[in-house]
Amino acid sequence: MRQQIAAANWKMNLTYVEGQQLLKDILDENIETTENQLVIFGVPFPYLMMANEKVNTLKNFYVAAQNCSNKKSGAYTGEVSVDMLKSINIQYCIIGHSERREYFNESNLDISEKLDLLLGAGLKPIFCCGEPLSIREAGTQNEYVEKQLRESLFHLSAEDLKNVVIAYEPIWAIGTGKTATTEQAQEIHAYLRSVIAKQYGQEAADGISILYGGSVKANNAKELFSCPDVDGGLVGGASLVAVDFVEIIKALK
Ligand code: PGA
Repeated sequence: MRQQIAAANWKMNLTYVEGQQLLKDILDENIETTENQLVIFGVPFPYLMMANEKVNTLKNFYVAAQNCSNKKSGAYTGEVSVDMLKSINIQYCIIGHSERREYFNESNLDISEKLDLLLGAGLKPIFCCGEPLSIREAGTQNEYVEKQLRESLFHLSAEDLKNVVIAYEPIWAIGTGKTATTEQAQEIHAYLRSVIAKQYGQEAADGISILYGGSVKANNAKELFSCPDVDGGLVGGASLVAVDFVEIIKALK
């Protein structure tokens, strides 16, 4: 069975002390994970080492950065490179989140460059994709998201693709309390898997985890994750509340 993942995306929330407390509250629950279940905390840059120290003795718990530079190193004030993340033993990095695409003008090309740097350094990208409301209303979401995949991912070898996690996040569902229905989520996840199958073969498609993101909550996670092609979630708001995120982890298949 492919990996089932509960990934927290704290975004630009919480002070250091609040972050420490949140992690403590979640980890104190001693959640048992099965072999194929992973929990990943996407925390702000200044908290990466603290979070890693808290989880690095726990099996199946990891820390992710929320972004990285598409440049290798050098005079890029304020940027954080993949090699820096690697040097502090970070193993995952979220890239292409719709907030970065929208507010920081990240293009599919920028994201593909980040992807290559991450994979080259042995880190695992959590690649975000998803359509805005206007595209969903026009009914062209499959083509829209397929294009995001083609332009950022499909230059990869099948071997590299194995280290990528995809997060499908419809923009109209992020932070809005509006969740895709299980039918909508399953339909587009199955479509994305079929696009990967066409490009890389069925085995590659069957092996890649595709997370759903967009108002995943404690009370809808089980239903969403029960869809055959939904392999867990990338969770914003609800990942900031310990009891809620614990429920979401427990909802993994
Ligand atoms: P949300 O955010 O769970 O608050 O909708 C999800 C995300 O943006 O990753």
